Amino acid sequence: MIREIFLQRITRPGPPWDLAVVGGGATGMGMAVDAAARGYQVVLLEQSDFGKGTSSRSTKLAHGGVRYLQQGNISLVMEALKERGLLLRNAPHLVHDLPFVVPNYQWWEAPFYGIGLKVYDLLAGQYGFGRSVVLSPEQTLARIPTLQREGLRGGVLYHDGQFDDSRLLLSLAQTAAERGACLLNYARVTRLLKVEDQTLSGLEFRDQETGREYRLQARCVINATGPFCDELRLMDEPQAESMLAPSQGVHIVLDRSFLAGDTAIMVPHTRDGRVMFAIPWHGHAVVGTTDTPILQPTLEPQPLDGEIEFILDTAGNYLSRRPGRADILSAFTGIRPLVRSDRASSTAALSREHTITISKSGLLTIAGGKWTTYRKMAEDGVDHAAVLAGLKERPCLTRDLPIHGWQKEPAKDKNLAVYGSDAAALEQLMRDQPALAEPLHPALPICGAQVVWAVREEMGRTLDDVLARRTRALFLNARAAVAMAPAVARLMAAALGRDQSWQDRQLSEFKQIASHFIVSPC
Ligand SMILES: Cc1cc2nc3c(=O)[nH]c(=O)nc-3n(C[C@H](O)[C@H](O)[C@H](O)COP(=O)(O)OP(=O)(O)OC[C@H]3O[C@@H](n4cnc5c(N)ncnc54)[C@H](O)[C@@H]3O)c2cc1C
Repeated sequence: MIREIFLQRITRPGPPWDLAVVGGGATGMGMAVDAAARGYQVVLLEQSDFGKGTSSRSTKLAHGGVRYLQQGNISLVMEALKERGLLLRNAPHLVHDLPFVVPNYQWWEAPFYGIGLKVYDLLAGQYGFGRSVVLSPEQTLARIPTLQREGLRGGVLYHDGQFDDSRLLLSLAQTAAERGACLLNYARVTRLLKVEDQTLSGLEFRDQETGREYRLQARCVINATGPFCDELRLMDEPQAESMLAPSQGVHIVLDRSFLAGDTAIMVPHTRDGRVMFAIPWHGHAVVGTTDTPILQPTLEPQPLDGEIEFILDTAGNYLSRRPGRADILSAFTGIRPLVRSDRASSTAALSREHTITISKSGLLTIAGGKWTTYRKMAEDGVDHAAVLAGLKERPCLTRDLPIHGWQKEPAKDKNLAVYGSDAAALEQLMRDQPALAEPLHPALPICGAQVVWAVREEMGRTLDDVLARRTRALFLNARAAVAMAPAVARLMAAALGRDQSWQDRQLSEFKQIASHFIVSPC
């Protein structure tokens, strides 16, 4: 993946692209993989970095959604459970089974959740990860020693999948590129082009690195801009009605000592009627989330004080050590691209199913859904787009398509496991240049080789790209990420051929971004 080569391919005169995908999140990248695997000529443009939007800010669960089961949405749960199984098969280096416990403090909870989770097992069928079981208080505490002991009656154990969202996205980008897709980050679509009869014929985009504007022709333009999809729809039809009801969700990251053991906690019903998770992730504990309706989506959303207090309060009810603001290592916020419904009374009640709409001019908008179902969304999206573009019908191949890095056995070095089969090349880089094997900060197991790799192989262009999504430093410990930023900037500048003023600008921009992840102690 070399940005300069992709840009040359786009700007070279040639026939129209079969499909032009706008948006480099799970939805858009899934479509690029699917289309390229079918042999269509596909280009994808992302205004910032791949995964900069919601797709790096999720709870990171490949799940059927116990909550949707509570809402009675059986078809959504079944579809997601099947996709969870396919994801584990196609990306075993990125997705793994995670045991969850629903702790019980009331007499009715064990039978109620015990039966509900048996139904969840049944719906998973052949794609099941493991059977749910009812646990005694002792068994529950053996799994999660830091659970609140007072009043504990036991727990129900069940299984779901966990993954690293931005690493999965980057692996999908590599999969798409290997199949011939052309992918450009820092390319913002600014205008849609139409022919006389008002049919879409292509688009105009700005290279955010140079400010230059380019045009490209495409048989079908796909709006996969997630929470921003109304903006592109308005470019197409200035009178278009908004189709989204965006809401934000916050997670906080704590030291792992708050959640001992390898089991996650699932609280099925918080004060505001939501589900809350406390999950072990990359040696830390992630706790969330909230659901707060917002007016306007932004690329760098920020947690509200009320959301932080709510998460701390809820976590404090279930953990033996009550976390406070000073314990928060990082807080990240994502925006749900929820499709509006007149019937739902809150955004938490809105459907997580995806929606495909086609405008009069032929703009295909695909929105909603979940990370877990990105493959199915892409299959549906490309099926529709191929008809719209008048392309030769070709079957979807992604059900059995291994994702870049596919490797059955995890890498020996636990910290490099998410790279799958690429881990060997990273290890070689460290052997060749031992200085690159040194951790860049004592609090995080991230080393210089990952930075060099991110620039050379994964189109990492900015400090934020490397510290937030190619490594997860910013998400795991925002202050440590800021502290390691100068060393990372030096390594990146050497790899990209940039000067000191580039490093200075990057450092100041990154500090600004990191301020959205840092929670003040009081
Ligand atoms: C708090 C939270 C937790 C979640 N947890 C889970 C979970 O555990 N499991 C699960 O399955 N799902 C989860 N989800 C849902 C899942 O994360 C989203 O459904 C998914 O990431 C949406 O992907 P997307 O590609 O549609 O949107 P995005 O990831 O936001 O991608 C859209 C992209 O379009 C780009 N863009 C916008 N305008 C333009 C333009 N003009 N030109 C070029 N590019 C543009 C943006 O920069 C952005 O990168 C969660 C969501 C939230 C908010």
